[in-house]
Amino acid sequence: MPNVTEKAMHDAATRHSADRRQVMRIAIQLIERRRQEFAAYDADVSRWYRHRHINQGLAYPVCIHGVSRYYDYDCACGACEDGDGYFDYLRVAKGALYEAQLRWDNYWKAQHAYITMISLGYDAEKAGQFSQWAHNRYLVVK
Ligand SMILES: [Zn+2]
Repeated sequence: MPNVTEKAMHDAATRHSADRRQVMRIAIQLIERRRQEFAAYDADVSRWYRHRHINQGLAYPVCIHGVSRYYDYDCACGACEDGDGYFDYLRVAKGALYEAQLRWDNYWKAQHAYITMISLGYDAEKAGQFSQWAHNRYLVVK
């Protein structure tokens, strides 16, 4: 039978492991969402160039961030200049991990706020709505 410290350490490790899984789950959804955004954009660009006769040979008008590619001065998209103009798995995965951890941390801050609201006797329905909002805002990748 493990002593109290071993049990606490085991519980903490289990909790940490569950947290890591949740962060990874969110990150994978964020990566997949970005992959789909790039796939949709690439399909639009391909469609555009298949119809050159309609668009009179013009380049596709916007980058994936919606910034115009038609300019007569040096003002390209900052995100594209930073290398976000095409799907780079490692770059997207790093960003997704960062965002997933932020979402998870914010979710738990909100849940702690919810517990505090309840313990202070705030309206349980409104506190519950806040908790639900935090769940949808931070854990659901749309
Ligand atoms: Zn851009």
